[in-house]
Amino acid sequence: MALVSYIIGDCPSCGTPESYGNVTVSGNTLSRGCLKCKHWDRIPLPELKKKIIYLDQFFLSHAFRGQHKMFVEAQQRITGLALAQQVVAPYSNLHEDESQLWTESQRAPLLKFIKQTSLGHKFSYEYEVKNRQIHRAFRSFLVNGPNTDTVERADALRRDVNEWDNYVWIDVGNFSDEHDALKMRKDRSVEALLDVFDTWASTNSTFEEDVQSEVRSYAKSYIEHYVDYVKSIAGGDPGAFLNANENSMMIEGLLRYDDKLPAPLRMQRIMAFFQSDYFANVPEVRIGSEFFALLRQRLRQGEFINKEKNRSRFSGLFYDVRFISTYAPYCDAMVMDNLMYQWATDPLIDLPKRLGVRLFSRRNWNEFLTYLDELEADRSPGIDDALKMIRPVGARTPEWVRRGIGR
Ligand SMILES: [Zn+2]
Repeated sequence: MALVSYIIGDCPSCGTPESYGNVTVSGNTLSRGCLKCKHWDRIPLPELKKKIIYLDQFFLSHAFRGQHKMFVEAQQRITGLALAQQVVAPYSNLHEDESQLWTESQRAPLLKFIKQTSLGHKFSYEYEVKNRQIHRAFRSFLVNGPNTDTVERADALRRDVNEWDNYVWIDVGNFSDEHDALKMRKDRSVEALLDVFDTWASTNSTFEEDVQSEVRSYAKSYIEHYVDYVKSIAGGDPGAFLNANENSMMIEGLLRYDDKLPAPLRMQRIMAFFQSDYFANVPEVRIGSEFFALLRQRLRQGEFINKEKNRSRFSGLFYDVRFISTYAPYCDAMVMDNLMYQWATDPLIDLPKRLGVRLFSRRNWNEFLTYLDELEADRSPGIDDALKMIRPVGARTPEWVRRGIGR
């Protein structure tokens, strides 16, 4: 017998009345079975071409609070499109972190809402995405290959998003309480950023020089973390391995290539790689550096002189730059706040032109609604039929479902 979710009729094999129906959806197959016998049918489902949409914390928290109709309605339409297997809006570890910054009573409900909107789809962790991009660039560096970096969807998504969603998804995330640590880190990094504003505003450099300087400080932080790590191992710190952060682990990973070569030589290669265009063109490194270079440019032009306003204006900047620089190359569309939209579409960065990603914010909300209209109009009759098979109208739910087992 099978755990039938939707009963659609009598079993074609044993003839038991009201015992046959849908059991599970997996990959591109709907499986049907019987509550009484071993009868089993596999029904192929049509191919999917889902659009990948990143909804930022700003959008999702507004939809969650429910005070502005525009966000609520858009979120509902996206959920509808996700259930219709046309879009997928995975959440990321940044959503988890940013939700932790909320008040204690709101944290878990907000994250639950975010996970529901994503139907359980999750992007790979930031460090995994970076790791894959940097390793690919390093391999190309080692063989003098092309230094224009490419990305693969698998860098950022663990499973094929074009599989049909099953009836139930299991929330494997555990909500660790790191509120205080995250809050402190966030406040500190924003203060440190605001502290350099005056210097940046008065420095005469070009956008491209600023990008290079950001790339270099990025590389420097990798090396510094690794040096600290090696020092703590050399100093006999028993916690060195446990406390090693992802930056030093990255260098460890790069040291494993050609491990027959002497270690100093392998380290030299890594240093040369960090100085090269191979590293500067890693998408996450490049895009992140461009955002900070653009900020410097804006400061030079006399923008953002109100220090008090800046504190709230830039409080989420690091998170925003992180999600855009990490996930933009893997998305068909992204919804973000006005400032990030302005910067991402600035001619100096222009992510839509470079990556083909559609960007939306309140500034071009009508374009966003038109985009959703187009997706809704685009649903193929084959997929409609399959959706009706998967969730048949008028189907009964068997006893085990009604008792609440499994959902
Ligand atoms: Zn049967």
